[in-house]
Amino acid sequence: MEKKVRLRYAPSPTGAQHIGGIRTALFNYLFVKKHGGELILRSEDTDQSRFVEGAEEFVINSCKYAGIEFDEGIHVGGPYAPYRQSERKDIYKKYVQQLIDNGNAYYAFDTPEELEEMRNRMITEGNPSPAYDHITRQYMKNSVALSQDEVEKKLVNNEPYVIRIKMPRNEEIKFNDLIRGWVTFNSSQLDDKVLFKSDGMPTYHLANVVDDYLMKITHVVRGEEWLPSAPTHVMTYKFFGWENEMPQFAHLPLILKPEGNGKLSKRDGDKYGFPLYALEWKEQNISGLKEKGFLPEAFINFIALLGWHPGGDKEIFTKEELIQEFSFERVGKSGARFDPEKAKWINQQHIKMKSGVELAELLQPTLQKNNVIADTAYIIKVCELMKDRAVFIPDLYEFGYYFFNDIKSYDTETIKKKWKPERTEIFLQLIATIDTVDNFTEQNIEAVVKAFMTEYKLGMGEVMPLFRVALAGGLQGPPVFAMMDVLGKKKSVARLQFAVEKFNTLQ
Ligand code: GLU
Repeated sequence: MEKKVRLRYAPSPTGAQHIGGIRTALFNYLFVKKHGGELILRSEDTDQSRFVEGAEEFVINSCKYAGIEFDEGIHVGGPYAPYRQSERKDIYKKYVQQLIDNGNAYYAFDTPEELEEMRNRMITEGNPSPAYDHITRQYMKNSVALSQDEVEKKLVNNEPYVIRIKMPRNEEIKFNDLIRGWVTFNSSQLDDKVLFKSDGMPTYHLANVVDDYLMKITHVVRGEEWLPSAPTHVMTYKFFGWENEMPQFAHLPLILKPEGNGKLSKRDGDKYGFPLYALEWKEQNISGLKEKGFLPEAFINFIALLGWHPGGDKEIFTKEELIQEFSFERVGKSGARFDPEKAKWINQQHIKMKSGVELAELLQPTLQKNNVIADTAYIIKVCELMKDRAVFIPDLYEFGYYFFNDIKSYDTETIKKKWKPERTEIFLQLIATIDTVDNFTEQNIEAVVKAFMTEYKLGMGEVMPLFRVALAGGLQGPPVFAMMDVLGKKKSVARLQFAVEKFNTLQ
């Protein structure tokens, strides 16, 4: 029987989850959905000194916004609970003991000063950061180098210790990464990583392997920064005799700066005026893409393209399409360039795909913030008219504020260029004619205005820019007659009349 696909997203709650983290969560999710599997949210909080209050909630809420759902985890429970490693402390003790008993791990009693001393002593040009490894371990205070008596004495005396993995010398460690293909390491190049700390907590390396095994994880999908740890993990599976249960690995490519020169850093968000987080987190001084007006469907579309592409020209994908088309074969090995302009464009495309009803709903928070009270049917019409122009949801209001408020300022340059005071009468006559249109639709208004202009020999350029300024304050905006249709007869006529007066005072 095929094993059920089970993946986990396992962040350490050491700060706000940025788009790199959410991309890992998303790729886990897409793969799980495609294969009808299960997704787990595990908190890897073994490093208590780096714990940040609120970081777990931030992950949960960011994933919720992105539509990444979990079947099991810290927030929903499940058959393998608890899912927070600090609550699983006792489990790891038993496993690390097993490694000690088999001679694959050992106690190390070295003090920080002794470790420092070793590094200073061993440092050479060719080896600038000497490691605790198969060579140096022989000269240190550990249960490999010391006699059994000495070790027992230290244990009885409760001398602080850590437990280290005993990396064999000169062994080839290989695994087949789903993105990178075969990856090979030599064990002599690896250090004896700490598995268990003096505070009674496991390190990431031990807890990660034990939990993936106990939680029956089939695939480990994580960022490239974990690739150097993978051989230690592979060795740990081997030491436990779990080779057959070892998950498959997929190490995702780095996310690079827009210019491609190096890894995207947290500060780059400020530089490009583009949040690198899903959500705002005020206490951490972090702004979010949700608050900026990113649609969740655009957000995951853009995040998915950070390293993945199914080939061809298609850039806009719905969530269903992402799930259908996702595969690790189509994830690149080399760094994925982060492009804020492309992200905006993707958001714009998703806004265009939405109906006026949906957009009106999404615009509510912005309208509330601006104390706008308007009829739903009216808001829907404005959204339909403005949606081709909006990059972010609040733009529907920002670019079309004049549908909800009085005009803030008029484009005086256009007025000065185009307005002729001697046309006052004829304009007022045209406005009066507009006021007679019964069924006030775009087509009807256009027909009446154009007939009038033909009769009085007025050119488009003599009327339209002025109408535009009269109705919207400036030259930007949707087609003039469509604008009038949405504003309605009363408001349109009032604005036009008011503008004629205004134009004359500005002359
Ligand atoms: N706890 C690790 C992190 O914070 C997870 C690495 C892994 O998925 O194995 O990214």
